[in-house]
Amino acid sequence: MNTRNTRQKEIVLKTLCELKTHPTILELYQAVLHKDASIGQATVYRNVSKLVEEGKIQKVLTKDGVTHYDGDCRNHSHFMCNSCHRLFDLYGVNTNNLIKAVRKSSCFIISNTYVLFEGICEECMDKCY
Ligand SMILES: [Zn+2]
Ligand SMILES: [Zn+2]
Repeated sequence: MNTRNTRQKEIVLKTLCELKTHPTILELYQAVLHKDASIGQATVYRNVSKLVEEGKIQKVLTKDGVTHYDGDCRNHSHFMCNSCHRLFDLYGVNTNNLIKAVRKSSCFIISNTYVLFEGICEECMDKCY
């Protein structure tokens, strides 16, 4: 891989890691543009797929079929606010117990889980009152 490609990939990764908003690919592309306007949309898309394959970033799928990206690959879950549709990180939620429960009640081999909690975030709840 030449240095230009490596640099572009690094910018994509760095931009995503700085964003805590779980951007969609388009939002990520727009953020990358702010850093380096010479990077095209196709380049961002290509690098994002590569980074997902390499396990450096992860996809977060929501029920509306939108794929969001997360630069934080630590084991964590997500919460989606049904009012503002923002995604929040949830740490310390142990999904291992969930995996254990499924293993106990089925013969499936579980390799991963994607848990998405839904509800109303603190900010939206404040607006209601
Ligand atoms: Zn909200
Ligand atoms: Zn996250």
